[in-house]
Amino acid sequence: MDMIVVMKASAAAADVQRVVDRVSELGLTPHLSKGEFRTIVGAIGAKIVGSREQLGQLPGVDEVMAITQPYKLASREFHEADTILDIKGIRVGGPHVNIIAGPCAIESREVLFEVGRAVRDAGAAILRGGAYKPRSSPYSFKGMGREGLELLQEAGHELNMPTITEVVDPRDVAIVYEYADIFQVGARNMQNFNLLLEVGKTDKPVFIKRGLAASITELLMSAEYVLSQGNHRVIVCERGIRTFADEVRFTLDVSAVPVIQERSHLPVFIDPSHAAGKRDLVPALTLAGIAAGAAGAIVEVHSCPDRALCDGPQAVLPGNFVKLMEQIRQISDVVGHRVTLWGRDDDEESPRRATPGGWAT
Ligand code: PEP
Ligand code: MN
Repeated sequence: MDMIVVMKASAAAADVQRVVDRVSELGLTPHLSKGEFRTIVGAIGAKIVGSREQLGQLPGVDEVMAITQPYKLASREFHEADTILDIKGIRVGGPHVNIIAGPCAIESREVLFEVGRAVRDAGAAILRGGAYKPRSSPYSFKGMGREGLELLQEAGHELNMPTITEVVDPRDVAIVYEYADIFQVGARNMQNFNLLLEVGKTDKPVFIKRGLAASITELLMSAEYVLSQGNHRVIVCERGIRTFADEVRFTLDVSAVPVIQERSHLPVFIDPSHAAGKRDLVPALTLAGIAAGAAGAIVEVHSCPDRALCDGPQAVLPGNFVKLMEQIRQISDVVGHRVTLWGRDDDEESPRRATPGGWAT
């Protein structure tokens, strides 16, 4: 049984250190989490009889609780406050809403830059584009590989946007690390445990999509794999699951947003594009997710979707994306969240930095 040791607000640093040392002595792995109001020490591993009572007696300890969920580091019990990541100056999680947008796949320099510029100008914070595409058919376009990564990096630099791209193979973690800012682990790889362990050994954020038929517990267990390796920069994403409903590509499980938020401190995104499968449905699903409290959305946008090599039917046109951003801003206001408008800040010192607390114009 894993435990968390909650320190008193008055506990001294030496008290915390004593608890950390004793946890190690007991053969458990300590995890320190310093909150705004209190420090928590996680004690992960097989319980030694009496350890809970022993830890409870140390100076500065308020209480010792058992973690009841199968995931530990991902649980709210372990870390009470929302995790807020800093990704190249963009804050992700908590009250911040960030929109990731771009084409499904990197197809050419022209399209990537055209779409990238359009979504950046509309206020998207992060640029997406797949260089390694996990396709259902072995005959479909598989992505541009390294050449695509080079283009994505170049676009990210030119547009001053952090980038996200999917990694499908543990052997590609090093190359994707070199070119992109965020690892995307796709729905089909959510339980590729070797891949999760590999990205968990890095220090770049990992965006994990829910598997097509995965439960919320399974999604959080996948996050736990990454966290267990010491990488605490994890975002999870609801992207639609398989149900009997066949009018849409997948069924967006909007309830996953509040359920995950209740159970975990990690930022939760939604992917309206892969759930909808059709561009006309994308705005409604995006807004539903933002209204449910999601920390952001990942939206596929294409300037010429009928020529797209991947997922054209669900790609939103740049003009419609501008309208969608405006609606996202309005819905965010209603739920007390704030949209980061990357690239729209007038701050001289940091020209691309979003203004905390507001919609910079
Ligand atoms: C994608 O983002 O292009 C993608 C393949 O998504 P998913 O893994 O959710 O199917
Ligand atoms: Mn896609």
